[in-house]
Amino acid sequence: MQIPQNILYILDRLEQAGYEAYIVGGCVRDSLMGAQPHDFDITTSALPEETERVFADLRVIETGLKHGTVTVLYEGEPIEITTYRIDGEYADGRHPDEVRFTRSLAEDVARRDFTMNGIAYSPKRGLFDHFDGAEDIRRGIIRCIGDPDKRFGEDALRIMRALRFSSVLGFGIEQATADSLRRNKALLHRVSAERIFTELSKLLCGRNAGAVLREYAEIFAEIIPELAPCIGYEQHSRYHAYPLYEHTVRAVENCPPDVGIRLAMLFHDIGKPLTQSADESGEWHFYGHAEKSAELAEEIMRRFKTSNAMREKVCAIIRYHGFVPEKTERFIRRRLAKHGAELFRDIMLAHIADDSAKAEFTKERIPEWREIIRMAEEISQRQPCLSTKELAVGGRDIMQLIPASPRIGETLKYLLDGVVDGRFENRRDVLMKQAELFLKIDK
Ligand code: ATP
Ligand code: MG
Repeated sequence: MQIPQNILYILDRLEQAGYEAYIVGGCVRDSLMGAQPHDFDITTSALPEETERVFADLRVIETGLKHGTVTVLYEGEPIEITTYRIDGEYADGRHPDEVRFTRSLAEDVARRDFTMNGIAYSPKRGLFDHFDGAEDIRRGIIRCIGDPDKRFGEDALRIMRALRFSSVLGFGIEQATADSLRRNKALLHRVSAERIFTELSKLLCGRNAGAVLREYAEIFAEIIPELAPCIGYEQHSRYHAYPLYEHTVRAVENCPPDVGIRLAMLFHDIGKPLTQSADESGEWHFYGHAEKSAELAEEIMRRFKTSNAMREKVCAIIRYHGFVPEKTERFIRRRLAKHGAELFRDIMLAHIADDSAKAEFTKERIPEWREIIRMAEEISQRQPCLSTKELAVGGRDIMQLIPASPRIGETLKYLLDGVVDGRFENRRDVLMKQAELFLKIDK
């Protein structure tokens, strides 16, 4: 096990002072899988005030004293140390009513969620694996510690954590645990929207996201009721080979693991059941579904209390996922000016993901979408001027030609269109002359 020097130092000092100290949880799990842990949690038999005394010479922050956690700053790095503890009853299905400290590591690991997360390791004392977590890791299995119904009843966020780990680690969920999380899905309403969203975001970017979305569809319908009508919904369209939810899952699988794009794909067609119509031949259509889906996604993202930037990105990708791109320099320039390089690229990636998830023949256009992405990159590199901010003239320059009026904005917009279309060069002298002409003609 590869443990950084500063962590070894902290473990050693606690042991020197007569306490037990282990690394525990995610860092042990990741190490056993051969992955690099992103942080190390330390658990100890020392009470919080004892830990503070051991590190009296260092800066110690009482991060969560009530839960037994103190943070020691060592060599500029914060290191969390938590006292062995037992969680009391969970009356609200979210937090234990009280925590009690204990000197027994066995009691501490029993409060943890899954066997793979209940392993502790100490360089001095070795592996402490009371629930055969290492064997479950080896077999790729997520299993609750103790009775799953009881554990999900205590804290329903564990339902989302199980699905998230399944997606990110590519592990299966053991049968009794899987049955129980399905049975207890309604408990998810007790959990805060922000915490669910954090898990959902990680889950969507996991390598096994598609399989988890498929296998646990009803859980996703529980946290996002707008998905429920999509499950099993036949599209009756020659463009589609799959029912709506399966199409959605495939679209998620077919785009890069970026939260914004993946959320957009998850929601891109949720407006379809609400916009459905049929023609004489019996073929179904969904006119205006992109706009409707964007509207619903806006509400969902507000419920999840995401950042404005994330909400706007997701909704913009959805709103524009249905337009037909043209492989011309003029079209691409206009779109780059409208969306910016990054969003335009995301919209095109959404086209690729969407068309890879429909009927076989819709895949024919994908090389064209890729070519558009390539052209857009080349254009933005060659000439990044694509908003009025980047024009070689500004409002002040135009004010030399006319007094302040709404016409200044109009003139700048006119100049930008010309530059975007390649009619004017983005140079001050050229643009000033064009501005003069524009203001004259239009008078
Ligand atoms: P990662 O940090 O990679 O997301 P992790 O397993 O380390 O995964 P953390 O949230 O950092 O997750 O939690 C650290 C440890 O605390 C877990 O490994 C687990 O032992 C325990 N734990 C965290 N959340 C819960 C929970 N909701 N219920 C029970 N135990 C939990
Ligand atoms: Mg962790």
